[in-house]
Amino acid sequence: MSDDQWGHCQHCQYFGSHARMPLGNEEAECKQPTLSRYKLVVFGASGCELFVVRAGLRPDIEQHEQAFA
Ligand code: SF4
Repeated sequence: MSDDQWGHCQHCQYFGSHARMPLGNEEAECKQPTLSRYKLVVFGASGCELFVVRAGLRPDIEQHEQAFA
């Protein structure tokens, strides 16, 4: 899988936060179907290649952040 798919948990639809825009220091369960069996609790600043952009966020939010890193 390409690095282009990598994204932060805080922007991911599988991040089990109830916040509209979770923060990097927030902890929540990862609900990604393949990973959910492990009951992982991850930080918003974490990330992985199974990332899918969270509803309500711009599709290019990860590219936008990298441009200013
Ligand atoms: S670990 Fe991966 S799939 Fe799970 S919330 Fe974080 S970016 Fe999304």
